[in-house]
Amino acid sequence: MAAPKVAVVGAGVIGLSTALCIVETCPSCSVAVLSDQFSPNTTSDVAAGMLIPHTYPGTAIHVQKQWFKETFSYLFAISNSAEASEAGIHLVSGWQIFKNTPKEESPFWSDVVLGFRPMSKAELQKFPQHHFGQAFTTLKCDCPPYLLWLEKRLKAAGVQMYTRKVSDLWELHSQYNIVVNCAGIGAHHLVGDEKLFPVRGQVLEVHAPWVKNFIRDGDGSTYIYPGIHRVTLGGTREKENWSLSPDPDTTKNIFDRCCSLEPSLQGAQDVKVKVGLRPSRQSVRLNREVLSQGGVKLLVVHNYGHGAGGFSVHRGTAKEAAHLVGECIAALQGSSSRAKL
Ligand code: FAD
Repeated sequence: MAAPKVAVVGAGVIGLSTALCIVETCPSCSVAVLSDQFSPNTTSDVAAGMLIPHTYPGTAIHVQKQWFKETFSYLFAISNSAEASEAGIHLVSGWQIFKNTPKEESPFWSDVVLGFRPMSKAELQKFPQHHFGQAFTTLKCDCPPYLLWLEKRLKAAGVQMYTRKVSDLWELHSQYNIVVNCAGIGAHHLVGDEKLFPVRGQVLEVHAPWVKNFIRDGDGSTYIYPGIHRVTLGGTREKENWSLSPDPDTTKNIFDRCCSLEPSLQGAQDVKVKVGLRPSRQSVRLNREVLSQGGVKLLVVHNYGHGAGGFSVHRGTAKEAAHLVGECIAALQGSSSRAKL
């Protein structure tokens, strides 16, 4: 059989990292990325990019932990290399704080991040409204540079990038053997997934270079995440809201909430507002599917629905998707050698 042709639909963090894992595990494959938007116009460009997992209620915890571990190790190695600044990956220390002690004092990911421990009384004095907290060091992706770094690696590996809106996966049947669906919230229309819904998020990016530690209010509604050049202030979680327009009242509300945790932010400058739609589901859709139309088959691998935690698990889910592509290739090779007999 000739080199299998794989189309990856989507150029957010999931599509690009999945395409990269496919070329790494199957160097003989011919891989193309097809997307209606590329960086800086994807949801992934809006994300804060912090490696603090979101919990998917429909996925076993040991699976989520494995995805997170693989992602953390991969980015930790980049953060410890000469490419760290170009890739926008860096370590950041800080605090997750709670008004009431949470049921689980140590989340499932506490032994993956570095130096996880309860905050001391002295540290908690910084947050008079909060009575419990966790201190740790994790990784942060500055998202647009990381997406560009992934694109650069893909181009160097010979992957073609096409700007194209796909209305139906069957459009790709005549040109590709396998289609990988990484369309994020776009999968709602592309494959009619009713279980996928948007959770709108608005964030601010500000110039406040003196803020060095992250602060996350335990429920994740308010957060301050310092990046390499800018600090991300968040946020909102608005289920089923499809609006991509920034809301000025929300901007003020986010700013006030963040200033109440870190009063020095009153001096922040150059406020920019970003909005994105988290592609949310009870569980990430990560599976193989054989579509069939009039006796013709199309092999599909789905990898979408990462909700509020796509950066935290992207490498783990991309590796699993690449493994599923490997299974599709084995099936194709099996059927082509049977056809020759
Ligand atoms: P996207 O980035 O949306 O990419 C989907 C791609 O598919 C796009 O390129 C799109 O153009 C393309 N596409 C869609 N439909 C079609 C079609 N029909 N034809 C062709 N192309 C198509 N996660 C974390 O882990 N940590 C964080 O700190 C964090 N902060 C966040 C803050 C906010 C405000 C938001 C909104 C999200 C945050 N997230 C965070 C979540 C994270 O952004 C998402 O989980 C992740 O970006 C999803 O990536 P994706 O590649 O699936 O989707």
